[in-house]
Amino acid sequence: MPPRTHRTPLALLAGLALGCGAEGSADDAEAGDAPLEGRSEESAADADADGDVADVGDAADAGDVWDAPFPPSENLGRDILHIDLVIDLAALSGTATILVAPSSAPGASFEAGGLDVRSVTGPAGPCEFVVVDGRLDVGLPASVEAALVVEYGFLYQVDFEGLSRRGYVLDWPNHCGNVFPCHSHPTEGQTFTLEVLGVPPPDAAVYAAELSADAPSYQLSWAMGQFIHQEVGTTTAGTRLVVWTVAGRETAAAEGMADLPAVFDWYERTLGPYPFGDLVGAVAVNWPPTAYGGIEHHPYWHVSRFAIGDRLVHVHEAAHGWFGDGVRIARWEDLVLSEGTVCYLAARALGQTVGPEAEAETWADYEAELAAIVAGSDRVAWPDELTDPVELEEFLFSRSPYMKGAMFYRAVAEEVGAAELDRVLAAFFAAHAGRAAGMQDMLDRIAAETGFDPTVLADGWLRSLGSPAP
Ligand SMILES: [Zn+2]
Repeated sequence: MPPRTHRTPLALLAGLALGCGAEGSADDAEAGDAPLEGRSEESAADADADGDVADVGDAADAGDVWDAPFPPSENLGRDILHIDLVIDLAALSGTATILVAPSSAPGASFEAGGLDVRSVTGPAGPCEFVVVDGRLDVGLPASVEAALVVEYGFLYQVDFEGLSRRGYVLDWPNHCGNVFPCHSHPTEGQTFTLEVLGVPPPDAAVYAAELSADAPSYQLSWAMGQFIHQEVGTTTAGTRLVVWTVAGRETAAAEGMADLPAVFDWYERTLGPYPFGDLVGAVAVNWPPTAYGGIEHHPYWHVSRFAIGDRLVHVHEAAHGWFGDGVRIARWEDLVLSEGTVCYLAARALGQTVGPEAEAETWADYEAELAAIVAGSDRVAWPDELTDPVELEEFLFSRSPYMKGAMFYRAVAEEVGAAELDRVLAAFFAAHAGRAAGMQDMLDRIAAETGFDPTVLADGWLRSLGSPAP
């Protein structure tokens, strides 16, 4: 994760267009698509379940549904199923084709605080829209699945709040609305395609052209630079690992990634198939020198150029393919399900692949960091709802969920056995992959799979300040 940053005031822009159904609906009306209703209900019942990209042509055929004018209305609860994003960096413009699910209420809303929204077009023509307080509200019927094409401009942002002039996008936790119309809440998952055009030579852009499993908005990113591509290795499942490094950091990148094929192979064999394709790796991004570490923009996680030689950073970011990305968190307050699980897995994976000394070294680092947290800016790792935005932001940039989360899992492993805990984590991933889950789901899974109730350990490590007496 990047260091703490502060939000900038965002330009708010508003616009209006003609009715979302007024044009082009006459020809379409005769199709009279009765099955639409049934399919809508089916989709609405489990709108977030699969990110299934249905045939949006059906919505265009349902002219009667779209016939009335639909004024813009707020509906942030409308589920996003899929986004096709085309970015033109030369023009600083984007085209987002957003497939939204049927909803019980009309309208669809997206975070768009840093965007200059120029038009929104639905299956039956231009849609009415307005941008209020950084939120794009679009008018459309309730009970339809529809693809909305949003044309917009956007700007460079300060570091770690969207597109940086230093050549990367970082949108975690809630800055996706500076890059594309989105829902930043981590429970929202959708599939993506991405195309980045207009990269000024000699730079090139590194990004995944497709995320074919449901992903949180903060997973989408790209990086630009004069990268040097290095092959790292292949897992037994056939997943290829690579690193895009920069001149002068080739040796560091090779060293930092040297154990990743074995580690990634262990993750795949232990936790289950990797969800985001068969080419994964790291990109050495040009974060400011004050920032150190990486972030989980799978399948190509970003790592500071200064950290590209740091094995633990790669082992940590790689595990986010399963926890934090593969399984999203249901609430930001459940961050420990992402970061704590990943910190534990990183130590465990190093022990199982590199050896006991590597694992012991990692735990020693964690213990030292935990001691500093407890002595300094201690926080509850798994808090109740944080309603104050400042408090929430401080929590999200705290390391407490990382270290206390790791310690919680280690304490569970001491009770049930580390191999048994591996099995629980695999069962959890199988049950929740592609969906959002909370830390309570993990406690329940541990209890159900092992017969051991981890509540006391969770109370001590995750729900309290300090650290439990040994
Ligand atoms: Zn992390």
